[in-house]
Amino acid sequence: MNTLAKKQICGDPKIWKDPPGAIMYCPGCQHPVIHRIIAEVLEDLEIAGKAICMGGVGCHSFAQVSWDIDYNLCAHGRALDAGTAIKRLNPEAIVFSVQGDGDCTAIGAGGFINAMTRGENLTTIMYNNTNYGTTGGQLAPTTLVGQKTSTTPKGRNPETEGYPLHAAELAATFKGTVYSARGSVHSPAVFQRTKKYIKTAFQKQINGPGYSFVEVLTACPPNWHMSPVESVKRIENEVVNEFPLGEFKNISDPQSRNKREQNI
Ligand code: SF4
Repeated sequence: MNTLAKKQICGDPKIWKDPPGAIMYCPGCQHPVIHRIIAEVLEDLEIAGKAICMGGVGCHSFAQVSWDIDYNLCAHGRALDAGTAIKRLNPEAIVFSVQGDGDCTAIGAGGFINAMTRGENLTTIMYNNTNYGTTGGQLAPTTLVGQKTSTTPKGRNPETEGYPLHAAELAATFKGTVYSARGSVHSPAVFQRTKKYIKTAFQKQINGPGYSFVEVLTACPPNWHMSPVESVKRIENEVVNEFPLGEFKNISDPQSRNKREQNI
């Protein structure tokens, strides 16, 4: 489709850079699709002008060349720690972190858990491709049992490497979390639902206070040793069985958490 026809049919969010960072990704990578959803949501909610992205380290970091917004590339795993300072100093800003599953739940596990414990008024979009994609496909906390990675060539063995970590379910258990969901982008229908989750998460921050989290499943064909089409089928037939899609927490009145506590 030529550029003019594309603009006439669907258009681009104003913050979407042309050419976008999508050109830096492996064929079949779904990270740019998630970048696109976030760009559309920022525009739909008219918050792009005051949005500040705290970028983790990983393939998702190319978001910084996909969006024309303020972007702070953080030290590995420190997006929520830096984001806490930025949000507290600029409470009117919409501060969100974009992190991979390793950046958020391994290297950044402490920052993740403590941001939720404190109930920071921040939003995280976590890209879960079940491995460390950027550095060669090593085992991550989210790697499925039996999944072959460069550090588990015979497949993840729960007796030695444990079980996959469920970030969206974990986030939902924290009192400081007001919203937690898991989406995917492997079909048009789930794409639309995931956009709704991400929009809801940002809306929670606008309404405040409280932490909002959306995990999004995403394909990594080269490290899964699959074609792009096979990768989509893997998500549909295998990954969603371990990581079910849906909302795990949605609190409309953050103050109700404290009221419940006082009643006990
Ligand atoms: S290594 Fe995986 S996550 Fe990284 S760009 Fe390639 S497909 Fe995407």
